[in-house]
Amino acid sequence: MTAVLVLNADLGPLHRVSLRHAIRMLLREVAVVHEAEPDRLIGVYPLPRVVRLVSYVVTRWRFSGGPAWSRAGVHARDGRRCGYCGAEATTIDHIMPRSRGGRNSWKNTVAACTGCNQRKGDRTPAEAGMVLRVKPSIPTWGALVQR
Ligand SMILES: [Zn+2]
Repeated sequence: MTAVLVLNADLGPLHRVSLRHAIRMLLREVAVVHEAEPDRLIGVYPLPRVVRLVSYVVTRWRFSGGPAWSRAGVHARDGRRCGYCGAEATTIDHIMPRSRGGRNSWKNTVAACTGCNQRKGDRTPAEAGMVLRVKPSIPTWGALVQR
């Protein structure tokens, strides 16, 4: 079932819920449709992709700086293209290699093809003489939801 993104009243992203759950929120009038699938209705409602809470909910995690890191998320952010050569990405490259303390973080990882990943090995791009086409960043929720 399609997941629907829930935004806080100030448009800060909170979490995803099932479509069924989102519809219940609309029916209970705790949320309104923020972004809908074009030309599709569920009952009287446009099919929601993103709903927004009517009243602001205080959360602890909303300052955490965006979505949690994931391999799938890195591929989605980078459009499944290798950050070095632009070929189809099949793996993830750690810019500062994990063997040298590089972490699983948005800014330390790019989508990569196997060839570039192997060529780079346990080196930084500078050491390997390789140039990143992209500057890895923390993706917006929207960028991940679109895929
Ligand atoms: Zn490549």
